[in-house]
Formats: sequence, structure tokens, C-alpha cells
Amino acid sequence: ESLDQGLEKTKEGFFSKITKAIAGKSTVDDEVLDNLEDALITADVGVDTTLEIVKRVEQRVAKDKYVGTSELNKLLQSEIEGILVDHADTSYKNFGIPEGKKPYVILVVGVNGVGKTTTIGKLAHNFKKAGKSVILGAADTFRAAAVDQLVIWSERVGVPIVKQAMGSDPASVAFDTVQSAVAQGADVVIIDTAGRLHNKAYLMDELSKIKRVIQKVIPDAPHDVMLVLDGSTGQNALEQAKQFTAATDVKSLAITKLDGTAKGGVVLAIASQFKIPVKYIGVGEKIDDLIIFDKHEFVDSLFK
Ligand code: GDP
Repeated sequence: ESLDQGLEKTKEGFFSKITKAIAGKSTVDDEVLDNLEDALITADVGVDTTLEIVKRVEQRVAKDKYVGTSELNKLLQSEIEGILVDHADTSYKNFGIPEGKKPYVILVVGVNGVGKTTTIGKLAHNFKKAGKSVILGAADTFRAAAVDQLVIWSERVGVPIVKQAMGSDPASVAFDTVQSAVAQGADVVIIDTAGRLHNKAYLMDELSKIKRVIQKVIPDAPHDVMLVLDGSTGQNALEQAKQFTAATDVKSLAITKLDGTAKGGVVLAIASQFKIPVKYIGVGEKIDDLIIFDKHEFVDSLFK
């Protein structure tokens, strides 16, 4: 699906609320700002991020008191874009890998059911399409289904997978995976982990142990720790982001299931609140339903 199709439901909610908030107004008075605040909050942008956006709009219009509706629209778009951070390294935009980072190791975290396995499959497919050799690591050794699903994706995409018996040490799987990636001269390693949030200390220990053993093979890895969040869960996704960023050093985000939800505004809340760049968004279950996130395109699409 395309970005515009994928965001259709979010757009309807978002755009119509914004339009209503500023319809027919030629000055940005307190009423417009209040309406804007209500509109953003009900579009799942979250309270903190909404207040930040409204403050920025207020500051901008303080300078030039009069703005027409379409100017206000543009101003709002640029302020929303302004709160989103960019990734310092842009190689992910064409599924490349940064200089000197071969194999490029991506550790994927997130709770069960958010679309972690699907996202890993889509990523592997895209890297392969871009001419990269990929190895998957099934380090979620607690659920048989997690390993089975990842095996299915590895077959579908045609990339090797490293796995061990159920219940084995996730760190040992991660170690095996990076070791065989180095031995085979692979370009990209994507490691799936179990996201058991109910025990935070355990999660922290497990992730840091995985990182430590990876670093025995590749000192500056993992190069990316990608948190996968289900965008259709709105504020729950925000809460998960809070917990995972407290447990480990999350470096990027993939936000899934934006198709079929009106809660896509949560992308703005998460990305701005945690100052973590979004790399990818999921807009469907199929292998090609992964979109490289571009903040300008994303915001532009919300306002279309
Ligand atoms: P995991 O438990 O986090 O590994 O989740 P899975 O990858 O198994 O995905 C859980 C369910 O969500 C599956 O039915 C997927 O097909 C579905 N799913 C994953 N990503 C997306 C997406 O972007 N859009 C939609 N509509 N469904 C998705």
C-alpha cells in the first residue's frame, strides 16, 4: 500500500478535525488555539506533543498576528515537522549500510503481537532487494510460535536463519548469529528478541546480556536497536515506548499497523516525546507493506 492509502483513516480523523478547528478563521485567537489543541489530542497526538505544537504555533503567530486559514495550515505543518527528529545516518532510506559497519547488526525489540516478526521479514526482503546478504537470528527462544514465524519469513524471503532449541539462551543465539554473519561475510544481521515487559529488570538484563555477547564479536554492535510499536494501539504504544526506552538504548522506531487505524497521530507523539527517529512504518501484512519514514511526506500526507 502507498503512504496515502495506508494513512487513509488517520487522515480522515486528523485532517477533518484540524480543518474544523481553523475553519473560516482569519486570526489565530485563543479560541482557535483551544480548538487546535482539542483536535490534536483527539487525533492521538498526545497531550505533551500537542502542547508543544500549540506553543510553537502561538509563538509563530505572535510575530505576524494575521494569518489566513491556508497559511495557518502550512504553519501548522511546518511546526509539526519541526518536532520530529531526523536520523543522523540516512543509509536506511535505501536499505544501504553505513561505511565500515559490515555486518550491520539490528537488534529488534518490542512486545509480542506488535508486528515484530512481520517487520523483520519485510526488512530482510528490502535489504535483499537492495543487493545485501542478510542473516536472521531467532533470539526469542521463549515462544515456539515466534521462531516458527521467523522461519516462515526466512523461507519466504530466501535468507538464512540461525536458531536453537526452545528455551535456550537468547544471548547464545545472538552470538551464533553474528559469528556466522562474520564467517559468511554477510551485510546485515537482524535479531529478533522476546519483549516480555511484565518483568522490567529481567528485560533489561536480557537485552544487555545480548548486547554484551554481540560486542564480543563486533565491538560497536548492535548498530541499531529498533523498537517496533503497534500504531493502532495509540497511547498504549506510547506507554511501551516509555518502558523500552527505560530498559535499553532504543535508537530507532518502526511503527506498524497504521493501515486500518485512525490513531496514526501517535507517530507524532512517540517520535517527538522520545526524540527517537522513526525509520519505517508498516501499512499492511504483505511483504511490500513497509514504508521508509520521511517526516515531510508523512505530515504532508496527513494534511492532504
Ligand atoms: P510479533 O508477535 O510482534 O512478531 O507480531 P507478528 O509479526 O506476528 O504480527 C502480528 C499480526 O499483525 C500478524 O497477523 C501480522 O500479519 C499483523 N501485522 C504486522 N504488521 C502489520 C501492518 O503493518 N499492518 C497490518 N494490518 N497488520 C500487520
